[in-house]
Amino acid sequence: MQELLNDILEEVKPLVGQGNVASYIPELAKVDPNQFGIAICDTQGKVTTAGDANTGFSIQSISKVFNLVLAYIYYGNSLWERVGCEPSGLPFNSLVQLEYENGIPRNPFINAGALVITDMVHSRLISPHVALRDLVRKLSGNPYILADVDVAESEFEYRARNAAMSYLMKAFGNFHNDVEEVLHTYFMNCAIRMSCVDLARATQFLANRGFCTITKNEVLSGDQSRQVNALLATSGLYDEAGSFAFKVGLPGKSGVGGGIIAVVPGRFSICVWSPALNKMGNSMAGVAALESLTRHIKWSVY
Ligand code: GLN
Repeated sequence: MQELLNDILEEVKPLVGQGNVASYIPELAKVDPNQFGIAICDTQGKVTTAGDANTGFSIQSISKVFNLVLAYIYYGNSLWERVGCEPSGLPFNSLVQLEYENGIPRNPFINAGALVITDMVHSRLISPHVALRDLVRKLSGNPYILADVDVAESEFEYRARNAAMSYLMKAFGNFHNDVEEVLHTYFMNCAIRMSCVDLARATQFLANRGFCTITKNEVLSGDQSRQVNALLATSGLYDEAGSFAFKVGLPGKSGVGGGIIAVVPGRFSICVWSPALNKMGNSMAGVAALESLTRHIKWSVY
């Protein structure tokens, strides 16, 4: 495994730093683009790494996976009454479908969907962000994980699009709590800092039919974990989900911090990170690294 990761690192080196770091969140624009890390966690919990795998970064939309886990815990399958399970084929922050689909977002991995899920969790918990932070601490085995308040505040200042989506959903009756409060939680969740090692460990349950080897407990049922993987495969990379399936062929979730988690069901979870993004908001070197990985292991879910 170590040799495999070293080979991937060598292969993607020329791509590291290519693309652009997310600048619509000013605090993220300060990150050095010339970084790359990869970590793999197998179903026994053994971690293998290469590059900057222990450097913390803003997990951004990868938080949507853990947010969905909280919704499963508090709502079970009834969560699907307020959010769909179809790919959107549109950018993560698009508003257009919401209007003609009556305020029901296509899936939990676009912003509108994650905002509805955050709203749902708000209805059940007093401190929804603390619940999410504690969940990732527990799953990764790292008790020091925190949100970067500067990133969250920077995003709150530029919240217009996410606020617009939330108010539109409120107008359709699909948003129950105070918009500004829910946005605050959503941005704090996105601003959580984790490393590739933390994220590979925290998503290992998805490779293990819902069972986390680190905490030795069932995070999701086998059926729910299969559903999450299916959604990750169809919607985890927004409008690049099709070509990601074509090139990589694994369930995956990206974030504008440059991280991508991916799952090889039954074998291992992976996290790659490199901050410079392509036009669709996904890590350029990260996508290339995962493409190289599935080529090397000669396996994909397809
Ligand atoms: N916090 C970001 C946003 O809401 C997350 C987007 C992402 O990582 N794709 O715009």
